[in-house]
Amino acid sequence: MTRPSSASHAASSALTLAFHGAAGSVTGSCFLLRLGDRSVLIDCGMFQGNKTLQELNRRPLPFDAAALDAVLLTHAHIDHSGLVPRLPLEGFKGPILATAGTVDLLGFMLPDSGFIQESEARRFSRRNRQRGEAQAEPIYSKADAERCLDLIHPIPMGMWRQLCPGMRARFWDAGHILGSASIEIEAAGQKSQPPVRLLFSGDLGPGDKPFHLDPEGPINPDWLIVEATYGGRDRVVLHPDERRRLLAETLKAAFARGGPVVIPAFAVERTQELLYDLDRLFDARALPMADIFLDSPLAINITRIFDRHLPDINEPGTPPPFARNNLHLVEDVEASKGLSRIKGAAIIIAASGMCEAGRIRHHLKNNLWRREATVILTGYQAPGTLGRLLAEGVRRVRIHGEEIIVKAQIDNFDAYSGHADRQGLLRWIESRGRIGRGTFIVHGEEAERQALAAALAAAQPSPHQGADASPILIPSFDSRWLLSESGPSPLEESVPPRISGHAASAPTDWHNDYASTMLSMGATIRALPDDAQRRQLLQKIQGLLRAAEHS
Ligand SMILES: [Zn+2]
Repeated sequence: MTRPSSASHAASSALTLAFHGAAGSVTGSCFLLRLGDRSVLIDCGMFQGNKTLQELNRRPLPFDAAALDAVLLTHAHIDHSGLVPRLPLEGFKGPILATAGTVDLLGFMLPDSGFIQESEARRFSRRNRQRGEAQAEPIYSKADAERCLDLIHPIPMGMWRQLCPGMRARFWDAGHILGSASIEIEAAGQKSQPPVRLLFSGDLGPGDKPFHLDPEGPINPDWLIVEATYGGRDRVVLHPDERRRLLAETLKAAFARGGPVVIPAFAVERTQELLYDLDRLFDARALPMADIFLDSPLAINITRIFDRHLPDINEPGTPPPFARNNLHLVEDVEASKGLSRIKGAAIIIAASGMCEAGRIRHHLKNNLWRREATVILTGYQAPGTLGRLLAEGVRRVRIHGEEIIVKAQIDNFDAYSGHADRQGLLRWIESRGRIGRGTFIVHGEEAERQALAAALAAAQPSPHQGADASPILIPSFDSRWLLSESGPSPLEESVPPRISGHAASAPTDWHNDYASTMLSMGATIRALPDDAQRRQLLQKIQGLLRAAEHS
């Protein structure tokens, strides 16, 4: 084991940490750790959710990418890795370090993300042309994403890796998805002080997942940066048999309504968990035989990666769950379009999981208005996404500019979780022992971060945290902190945050208000008894608009 080398300029320099994402929002994870003139980035995630947040993906990165010594990725989810292809475009030369599982997943996920960016840009350009506005550029292209893959290198779990003079890192299994890790970083201490140890939790798994064990980690870090996705929620932990029984019940009820069943699925992990459970249910004859269409080239490729990694992550001797006669892999677009003719008991699994992009939007357009159809939501839905709107029970939605009435049954099936709940987070934090200097709570909606902070404070004093318990902090978006021996202190920024803390944590923005206003205006006008009243109302609205124009 090598100690971090302590180049004198680094050893005598301040340690700072900036929160450039997942601070106030769940998405866009990105933390910049600096030791003097050395710097390391932990995650470079894409912002998902309302359009104000998504707009951040187009802005220049809020740091000098060319000056970074290394980038470390906790896992392959796009909200942790999706802006990685921007790094070389802004001058970064590498390396990007991740576990072998993450590297394999990114090989498909980043080019797929580039492809999505290009198709979105094409769609916006078409719309902009019609409006006489400028052409839309993709955030990055598929080719950009493929090029950046050369910079990504695997490092084994548990092995120290020198990042630059004064900093080294090692990965710990986080039990969240294939390849997911918490990252421990040692930074050279001031003068003759011992190294400072930081632990970034990444996303932590719940410990009851089909493919993973409980998350692990080192003890007694000086600084802990911990996620809080479910910081305020306790889940009923279901035995896998019970989870499958509930899934079978939900599907049987859906088939009884006439079908089909549409499942917006996260391509990584949730899709494979579902396929695994469906495989067990069909084999046990707990479900009437029905076709499963996996309609996502990305999810198909990821499932193949799971197949390869199964020996590492599955119970020995378990038969491969991803090869069945009634499982159809739908790779090409024409076959996908053909699925619009599917009626009756069939299951269509398509990405993306929050219904923001991909083939799922076509399936929703085809099925949301059908009373006999069922949509099963199987994962976290970020505020402002179409998935969240459906989960909240809206009756009308807009997809690709078209208004669709929601008559299908919408089921929130929350028996799967990729994330530890409040109890799981508290257990994992307690297992880390005494946190020497401070805990930063990130990656959660505001209420979840507050709830975890309160639960941690209530857990004190514990055997580890006496009267001298270290502070628990909720950093704001784009804030930067000095991490010194005496504790954390916020630094004054010369540049204001890219968006306000309020906008970073607001679940919806004006685009959402606009869409819901347009929808309810259309419905109200159509519901009026006659055309005279419709014209009267429209004149009033136009009067308001004219007044706003002149104010
Ligand atoms: Zn994740």
